[in-house]
Amino acid sequence: MVWLKGCPKCRGELTDNKDTYGYYIYCVQCGYHLTEAQIGKLWTHTLNRKAGKPAPQPQPQQHDPYLATVYYQ
Ligand SMILES: [Zn+2]
Repeated sequence: MVWLKGCPKCRGELTDNKDTYGYYIYCVQCGYHLTEAQIGKLWTHTLNRKAGKPAPQPQPQQHDPYLATVYYQ
């Protein structure tokens, strides 16, 4: 599986692989390896998209008035 522009570091392409150490996802461009938490999030998002569910919307953080202003305009 390949995720276009999925790398959190450089927006490069992510791909998954499996070896004797287990399953992992890494960036083809910069070599960044996703953490287990990031892999879980990525798969949840991927499966939701396949099921036709909308992508999660960014939630404004109450302690950050600038972000709240941007999201609500
Ligand atoms: Zn990258």
